[in-house]
Amino acid sequence: MTKRIFLSSPHMSGNEQKYINEAFETNWIAPLGPNVNAFEEELATYTETQGAAATSSGTAAIHLALELLGVERGDSVFCSSLTFVASANPILYLGADPVFIDSEEETWNMSPVALTRAMEEAKATGKLPKAVIVVNLYGQSAKMDELMTICDGYGVPVIEDAAESLGSLYKGKKSGSLGHYGIYSFNGNKIITTSGGGMLVSNDVDALARSRFLATQARDAAPHYQHSTVGYNYRMSNILAGVGRAQLEVLDERVKAKRDVFDRYVEALGGIEGVHFMPELEGTFSNRWLTTLTLDPNIVKITPYELMDVLEAENMEARPVWKPLHLQPLFEGCRFYGHDEESVVSERLFEQGICLPSGSNMTVEEQERVIAVLLSELNR
Ligand SMILES: *Cc1c(COP(=O)(O)O)cnc(C)c1O
Repeated sequence: MTKRIFLSSPHMSGNEQKYINEAFETNWIAPLGPNVNAFEEELATYTETQGAAATSSGTAAIHLALELLGVERGDSVFCSSLTFVASANPILYLGADPVFIDSEEETWNMSPVALTRAMEEAKATGKLPKAVIVVNLYGQSAKMDELMTICDGYGVPVIEDAAESLGSLYKGKKSGSLGHYGIYSFNGNKIITTSGGGMLVSNDVDALARSRFLATQARDAAPHYQHSTVGYNYRMSNILAGVGRAQLEVLDERVKAKRDVFDRYVEALGGIEGVHFMPELEGTFSNRWLTTLTLDPNIVKITPYELMDVLEAENMEARPVWKPLHLQPLFEGCRFYGHDEESVVSERLFEQGICLPSGSNMTVEEQERVIAVLLSELNR
């Protein structure tokens, strides 16, 4: 069997060991430590935010952001529907009610049209959401100006789920830096990884200080162990932060490699009728975390699932587009606002979409083998 070609596997720079060794030599294995402080500062500098708090996962960072915004049992929180379940799980941790918002065609992300409708209805019933979680899917920024204007109009804060879009830009600003809070993930398949980890960013440094307090069991300032609020064990270890520092050094290289992968797919397959690559909105720059496309069932003979099976038989890993959260059994009964009366955009993207092998460490030769399989299947 030939070597497996992964969707997106960890891609080390070689410098990680240096930071890990530093931690070992000083026996600073835990808790927290110099790598954590430096990683936070370096990421805040990179994202041009006032500060950052390193967490054990991106999910933890979302949970902390919701907590900082005072989300409680019975509150509602709006969230993009077309995303990984981790975007919305923390809403449930807090006993709040998720309301899902559809995508629009130009970014595949939250539809300002659907959001407007959801806000108008919420206002009419006298219960606005406590927060809106906007996801930047596969590296593509949502229409942040439009979405922020709507949310600001109702005084509702925005959490930008930039787990997949570190290194991307929106009108010259770093993706994840536009909302009141931004979150990143360093899970194994993300554009850079610490094997597991996340980051909360904000321009509100007091809120970030509170997030660090909440993330270390909310221990009060007292000589004994005293606690007056619920806390979490959500901080990143000093070893993993070392991995993150080395990974951040090569982030821009990784973005370039991902974009090159995307460009090679487009060059080879872009001319096939019924094949549509994920768009890049004017004024935005995507890290192209995963090369994603849709197959028009009226034109292309093969379905995404059949294509995935063919690739799997060649030991090549492809995946469907995220299943919209409003279709998940977990969220049965939650409200959902479609883009407009006729079309539910996220459902179409789910039915027709496929994510191709997109590793920044995939060789050109490996990609050519993937492309050969795709060409023979899509041209039938
Ligand atoms: C990966 C991911 C997360 C969660 O990050 P973890 O670090 O795995 O907890 C959240 N949202 C989106 C959109 C993701 O892709």
